[in-house]
Amino acid sequence: MPEFENPVAGFGVTFKAMFKKRLTEQYPEEKKPTAPRFHGRHQLNRHPDGLEKCVGCELCAWACPADAIYVEGADNTDEERYSPGERYGRVYQINYLRCILCGLCVEACPTRALTMTNEYELADRTRESLIYTKEELLAGLEEGMVDTPHAIFPGMTEKDYYRGLVTEAAPGTVRQEAHSENPKNEPPQAAADTFGPDEPASEAVSEK
Ligand code: SF4
Ligand code: SF4
Repeated sequence: MPEFENPVAGFGVTFKAMFKKRLTEQYPEEKKPTAPRFHGRHQLNRHPDGLEKCVGCELCAWACPADAIYVEGADNTDEERYSPGERYGRVYQINYLRCILCGLCVEACPTRALTMTNEYELADRTRESLIYTKEELLAGLEEGMVDTPHAIFPGMTEKDYYRGLVTEAAPGTVRQEAHSENPKNEPPQAAADTFGPDEPASEAVSEK
């Protein structure tokens, strides 16, 4: 092509683009649904009667390549029960400044307590607010559920829960008094110390 025709050819590209369908997205006014299996914010699931599926085993934290999860397990008692078995997750935190949403933690979870939602709006102004606590990650209550702590379904064992034999809270189930749960206002674990340009991971996480 002769050299003088180059500018004309360039305008030709512009001209053709003017009639193409625009791809501009009007986010955040218009939000497009994600793919069904999109990896978004995590959720800690419940059994159908409201007891928590998390057993505080920390496998998710060990599987995480970004050291984004912090778990502290504790023992259930008959007076204060959060899950059907022996242990439950007393403290559970996910640091979304570190999380790369890879889903390895979900694969590692033996009880399907941990899954991922399609929620992708994970931005905020402070480090602390991006460390999600158990209270923020725990699934909401659906019909037939009672909030934890509460007693195990009468006559059922932990295995029965996983066999799907418990489909709702037993009639008369009431919430027990919570003494040892993580207070809702407990600050995220070592949030301020955990991050910074050259700072190492917090002791609690790096000592795992
Ligand atoms: S999705 Fe990946 S990076 Fe995020 S908490 Fe789970 S294992 Fe860690
Ligand atoms: S979410 Fe699953 S893997 Fe993580 S501590 Fe709870 S039961 Fe264990």
